[in-house]
Amino acid sequence: MANLSLHLPPNVMKLSLRGRATMASTNGAPFYKTKSGGPVILEIPLDKIRRPLTRTRANDPVKVKELMESIREIGLQEPIDVLEVDGVYYGFSGCHRFEAHQHLELPTIRCKVRRGTKETLRHHMR
Ligand code: ADP
Repeated sequence: MANLSLHLPPNVMKLSLRGRATMASTNGAPFYKTKSGGPVILEIPLDKIRRPLTRTRANDPVKVKELMESIREIGLQEPIDVLEVDGVYYGFSGCHRFEAHQHLELPTIRCKVRRGTKETLRHHMR
């Protein structure tokens, strides 16, 4: 399977796309879609990912610290899952990895992005 890497300015993002992908649009949060509609792996700036449930769910600080050490040493081994609805990214899981990236002040995080509808989003918010 083709593996395409694009290097864009740091204030945009570094993309690594697996499989066939086409640019869909850019509205401040660039996004890409596969022709098959399957998930894509993207490096997304942390501040472009909305996390609607963060305030209601507390992370385990020990886990976060361990992840920070591991990510610093070997990097993120498993991307976090992100939902893309109408060009906006939403994260509901991968909370400890996300927080570890924040503390490490990493500008982007590797994400497995799936497309969803507003209905999918509503389902995640329940
Ligand atoms: P999260 O809320 O981010 O899912 P968990 O503690 O529940 O946190 O799980 C940690 C996840 O992070 C595991 O799925 C593990 O495979 C993944 N992971 C990715 N990169 C690393 C890394 N460098 N060191 C340890 N775990 C990692």
